Amino acid sequence: MPIYDYRCENCGRFEKKQRITESPLTECPNCGGQVERLISRNVGIIFKGPGFYCTDHRNVKERARAVNRERQKDNQALLDGDVGGYVKQSEQTDKKIAEGL
Ligand SMILES: [Zn+2]
Repeated sequence: MPIYDYRCENCGRFEKKQRITESPLTECPNCGGQVERLISRNVGIIFKGPGFYCTDHRNVKERARAVNRERQKDNQALLDGDVGGYVKQSEQTDKKIAEGL
């Protein structure tokens, strides 16, 4: 499901997950104030976890690919129904990312 950015006249910016078929919010779920939907960014892919916020890296694309490869291993473990393996794999991936891969 894509995430849309909204701005509330009272609360400021917030994000809301919505189906594509849902109509945009007109009032804030927090305060009922008026909201406007901001121009959406790329909503096609949502990456899990940290690792995509490091813009000072020399080769961001290459890093994103490497991170994605690691995350795929996480997801594969989950798809296999191996929750223990997923947690372990995911922790390893977090560590690798923290170390800069
Ligand atoms: Zn509000």
